[in-house]
Amino acid sequence: MSECQVCGKPVDKEAVRGGGSQTDGGMAVVNPQQGTRQLHEGRWYYFCGIECRTKFMGTPEQYIS
Ligand SMILES: [Zn+2]
Repeated sequence: MSECQVCGKPVDKEAVRGGGSQTDGGMAVVNPQQGTRQLHEGRWYYFCGIECRTKFMGTPEQYIS
């Protein structure tokens, strides 16, 4: 378990990774209900959903401590 970098809600890291499930194009399948993640400056940040990831990408320095 991890926490949403923006709002602190629990995020299931394993579910976000998707257990290797991918689309035909090789993209990881993202279920917004399970959260998402973003690579930023060499490390992965986890989010409860697209909305929080969007906030983070707008002002990442605000959420990195
Ligand atoms: Zn969140």
